[in-house]
Amino acid sequence: MPALDAIAAEKTAQLEAKSRLRRLRTVVVEEGITVSRDGSRLLSFSGNDYLGLANHSAIKQAMQDALSCYGAGAGASRLVTGNHPLYDPLESALAAYKGTEAALVFGSGYLANIGVIPALVGREDLVVADKLVHACILDGIKLSGAKLLRFKHNDAADAERLLQAHRLAHRHALLITETVFSMDGDLSPLVDLRRIADKHDAWLMTDDAHGIGRPQPVKVDVQMGTLSKALGSYGGYIAGSQALIDYIVSTTRSFIFSTGLPPATIAAATAALNVLSQEPERADKALGNARRFASLLGLPEAQSTIVPLVLGEEEKALAAAQSLEEAGFLVAAIRPPTVPEGTSRLRFAFSALHTERDIERLVEVIRRENLIP
Ligand SMILES: *Cc1c(COP(=O)(O)O)cnc(C)c1O
Repeated sequence: MPALDAIAAEKTAQLEAKSRLRRLRTVVVEEGITVSRDGSRLLSFSGNDYLGLANHSAIKQAMQDALSCYGAGAGASRLVTGNHPLYDPLESALAAYKGTEAALVFGSGYLANIGVIPALVGREDLVVADKLVHACILDGIKLSGAKLLRFKHNDAADAERLLQAHRLAHRHALLITETVFSMDGDLSPLVDLRRIADKHDAWLMTDDAHGIGRPQPVKVDVQMGTLSKALGSYGGYIAGSQALIDYIVSTTRSFIFSTGLPPATIAAATAALNVLSQEPERADKALGNARRFASLLGLPEAQSTIVPLVLGEEEKALAAAQSLEEAGFLVAAIRPPTVPEGTSRLRFAFSALHTERDIERLVEVIRRENLIP
């Protein structure tokens, strides 16, 4: 066996021994929240299509129209010949949705974060980030070469302590958090973070990948988001001032050196924003479902469409997900390194498409299987 394969096999065995091996399992979304896996139909509580837009008829129609008109792919980066006319209406709609002067669409949310952070800060600068920010934010900070300090999760006083002690030794400072935390479902203290950023001359950046279209309570200098979750399509974006966006276009490597989105994908995202503005009740329905679930189980009130049930060790989370699957529910078991050691969990994600009865059935099974620690 060649050396590389031997090393790969050994490392894979080590991961397996720690219940950390990840395997791809095929899942077909039949419609909205009903999926099939290994031949059985399951009700999904694990997707990020919170508003039920990935299968929306008007959005699929917009995609089909764009596909027949313009074909499958962009063929080049946006700065070469890939800047399709469909981008303009999407970016205007995104800027309106975020309340900013401008917005810029990237190939994915991951590409937006790993590109924009190094465009804004470098070796002489400081980044102060929440302990639980997403992996692609950490990757962006690493690529930037800036000094990274992490504050205790959602603890604005700790963020301030770090800025107070370190800000003056650096040229620029960037304070980064998520609006809704992807694995915990809690919200960041944006009002406090804005005040601290102003006091210590730092820029504020948020990752709104799990937001469902609610306005942020404060002005945010750099707002990152994705088209791939609540908007049901694919791609990422940055929203901010026109000056910021103009600068990003010319300096962000993941924007400059990567192909534009397929036209149908751009059209889908524009159509999704349109549906969202006409049917804002979708966001209330999704949040209401999460709240109902948490209250039936006696958990703290849900702050977003994501509700974690922290179980501890990897094996516990895997076994719990397995028993829910046997009862007909697809729920993700989340393990390190996605979450910290000892906090493996079930992550329940609620959609506007779930009914009250769906939630009650799920709760009955959780009780029956004694999954609440
Ligand atoms: C999913 C996610 C991303 C990446 O977005 P994609 O469009 O899927 O690449 C970034 N940040 C957070 C918090 C996410 O959950």
